[in-house]
Parts: sequence; C-alpha cells; structure tokens
Amino acid sequence: MKKWLLIFSAAALFDTVLLIWCLTPSPALRADFFDVGEGDGELISLRGGVRILIDGGRDGVLLQELGRALGPLEKRIDLIILTHCQLDHLGGLYETVDRYEIGAFIYNGCDSTLGEWQNIKNELVQKKISVYAVKAGDVIRYTSAEITILSPDTALIGSRNENEEAITFLLKYEKTSFLFMSDAPPDLERKIAGRLSGPVSVLKVSHHGSRFSSTPEFLSKANPLLSVIEVGKNNYGHPATSTVAELLKYGEVYRTDLSGTIKIIFNDGKLNVFQRKG
Ligand SMILES: [Zn+2]
Repeated sequence: MKKWLLIFSAAALFDTVLLIWCLTPSPALRADFFDVGEGDGELISLRGGVRILIDGGRDGVLLQELGRALGPLEKRIDLIILTHCQLDHLGGLYETVDRYEIGAFIYNGCDSTLGEWQNIKNELVQKKISVYAVKAGDVIRYTSAEITILSPDTALIGSRNENEEAITFLLKYEKTSFLFMSDAPPDLERKIAGRLSGPVSVLKVSHHGSRFSSTPEFLSKANPLLSVIEVGKNNYGHPATSTVAELLKYGEVYRTDLSGTIKIIFNDGKLNVFQRKG
C-alpha cells in the first residue's frame, strides 16, 4: 500500500500535523496535484466516484501519475478539462484519452498546430467522446459539487495570448472551495477577482508561480487558506521568490517541485494535505 505523509491539517486553524496516513475509502473530495514537472495536471475525485482530470502535463508522466492515483485497474475518467492549448497542459492527454474511458472533454474552444493537439482531436473523434467548449458563467453540477467556469469570456477566444483565454474555475463542495487558475496572467486575474464572492480554501496558483501573476490585488480577494504551485525545472524563474512570499502572507504554500505530488483531502469539514512519501 502506498504511504502518504500528512503535512498539513486545518479546520479553522493553521495546525501542522505530521503523521503517516493510509488510504481510507472514499473521502468527500480528493484533489491530486500531480508532479508533472513544469506543467499542470490535477485530478479531482468526488464521493460517489466521479473523477475530473484538469490538464495533462507535458508528457507521459501524467499517465504514470494517474496510474498511481487510481490504481492499475481503474480506467474511467468522467470529465477532462483542458484549460488551454499549450504543450505543458496537454502533452500527456493523448495517451490518457487513448487508454482511459472518458465521459466528456471540455476545453475553451482553442486550436493549435501542435502535433500533440492534433492527435488528441483525432482520438476524441475516433472514440466518439463528447466535446464541449465552455465559457464564463457555465456551471457543472454533481451532487453537492458545483463547478463555476470563471473564464474565458467568449470575446477572448482567438486572442493572441493563449493564457489570457484559459479556462479558470471555482469548485465548491460543502464548506470548501478550490480555485483553479491555470496560467492566468494579471489581466485575467483582475477579472476573476471581480467574479469571486469570497475567500477560497485552496488556490491552484496561476502560471506555475510566475512573478507576473498572483498579484496582491488578486490574492487579497482570493485570500487562500492554502496554495499549490505546480512547477518543475524551467528557464522562466518559476516560481518567483516574490510570488511565494506574497502567497505565504495568506497561508500555507506547497510546491510540486519540492514535495512531489500533493494530495488534498476534504472530509468531515476538514482539509488535510499529504505529500507522497518517497
Ligand atoms: Zn503552463
């Protein structure tokens, strides 16, 4: 059995607890932030069995991470959300679509000449998977979980800055909320800040911790209890020291380059954070 190290536990207080935790059946919500190097790949699992994959990392590492999270026999993913058409977000999706049974595929309507994207598109057609382009205001519901799409605005489709038109969304479940910011630049963060009604529990930090994103204006509105930066070896200076310092003003900060895959469990009104041990 895989062992996970509990590194953070919170109800209302910032208590850090260290203990070894073994898998318990079916928590209310589980979010895996995969260590896929410099790229994004997250898996949300909800009680009742629904699984939502957000982005596909840069390469085949995503498939390994999915196998570790789900086990070798589980081959179903209910929904894939591709936030935008850049390689570090879609590179591992072709193999995922090929090897898993996919319920539906959601994206922002983007297109790209990347061979990896063309392969994904062909595979989606071949396997007759339903594909939907979503925009700000769209809502996806499953039991008491609600995903509100916060961007892109329809007008942004086709803009020259692919990050500007990325899908960002807020997942609300019982008393917790997760804000997924993809590679949002400051202009998009400003819009999202205006669309948030209050603080969030967990923030998937914009753009791998870029110094241009996670502006004080945005963070003061999102006010995250804890933040996760998906980042790996890169030439862009991700994550920026100034960005990490800004995030630490609000709460705990976890980085996949330092901790590996981060798992957050929400159960009985409590958030627990684990990093994979070894
Ligand atoms: Zn990216």
